[in-house]
Amino acid sequence: MPIIPIAAQRTAPLPPDDPNTQARDRLGRAMHDLRISVTDRCNFRCTYCMPKDVFDREHAFLPRAQLLDFEEITRVARVFVAEGVRKIRITGGEPLLRKQLERLIDQLARLDVEITLTTNGALLAQKARSLADAGLKRVTVSLDALDDAVFRRMNDVDFPVERVLAGIDAAASAGLGPIKVNCVVKRGTNDGQILPLAQHFRGTPHILRFIEFMDVGSHNGWKLDEVLPSREVISAISAQFPLLPLDANYLGEVAERWRYADGQGEIGVISSVSQAFCRDCTRMRISPEGRLFTCLFADHGHDLRATLRGGGDDAALRKEIRAVWRARDDRYSELRSEETRRAKVEMSYIGG
Ligand code: SAM
Ligand code: SF4
Ligand code: SF4
Repeated sequence: MPIIPIAAQRTAPLPPDDPNTQARDRLGRAMHDLRISVTDRCNFRCTYCMPKDVFDREHAFLPRAQLLDFEEITRVARVFVAEGVRKIRITGGEPLLRKQLERLIDQLARLDVEITLTTNGALLAQKARSLADAGLKRVTVSLDALDDAVFRRMNDVDFPVERVLAGIDAAASAGLGPIKVNCVVKRGTNDGQILPLAQHFRGTPHILRFIEFMDVGSHNGWKLDEVLPSREVISAISAQFPLLPLDANYLGEVAERWRYADGQGEIGVISSVSQAFCRDCTRMRISPEGRLFTCLFADHGHDLRATLRGGGDDAALRKEIRAVWRARDDRYSELRSEETRRAKVEMSYIGG
């Protein structure tokens, strides 16, 4: 296939849509995953995501009436599944703050699709069983430190680490494992936690994944020198517990996989800054009030709720979803150096 320069792709008119084939965007990418953010609220104030001085009492969170209800979310999800989406991740803000989330899981679990959820784990010990009973299959838990003082500083609401660890245990007992445990690494803040976390999860079925600190949103004070490149994470762990590379589970997997040479399990690294993976980006995101985003670093989304609440049928929803996907040409991380200073959507709103 001839290589068409990006600028020419952006301006080239889109070819006519063939609704009998899976939609491809301007860079040839297909849509496989959907992330549904069910709330923009959170019970943590992680410094890299919702800094306390910005997300304070004065902050205007979305009013409840603006959020998509569970029937609306399920209807949209069904259209996405018909369009080829095979994996749906529930996220937020903190998704477990959304009341009766189990009811949504139950509705989504009836679709022919894998349902997962990303949580900070604070409410997991009490909710793991009911989530599993509702049909949730897997859970990803964010955990940035094993040391209680470091963890409390990073969540910035003085939340103790042992309650998240209890949540992970409860999720495993409820059959939601193996659990992916995500750690965002900030140089100078929690890089001293890499080895303790690795040691803690070695020998368990859980998969610890280290994520490079990203310049999402406009408020997290991101600085390049606080990004610890994944290769440094791998060499630090490997020096103590030798690691061997593993093949990706599927084409386009964002985490690079490694296994302990002594058979004690697997870890992963997500190098969103040092090794952008935009060419494999197959994700659509939907915000709590029904806006579609194709990139984590977008500054605006397409309002699908207007069609949902304006009486549009499923064919109209499908047409809009295809149009948004087909028009996308975003690859922010590959262009990062040129674009970091513009306003962007917040991670706590769109959910990662
Ligand atoms: N509240 C849930 C949680 O923390 O798991 C779900 C939403 S949170 C926005 C989703 C993921 O985004 C979390 O794993 C979090 O660590 C990650 N995240 C947030 N801000 C980030 C940043 N600046 N760089 C990298 N990852 C970030
Ligand atoms: Fe932290 Fe997730 Fe809440 Fe952001 S949404 S502050 S990452 S717990
Ligand atoms: Fe996808 Fe945007 Fe991230 Fe690139 S920067 S991988 S296009 S979400």
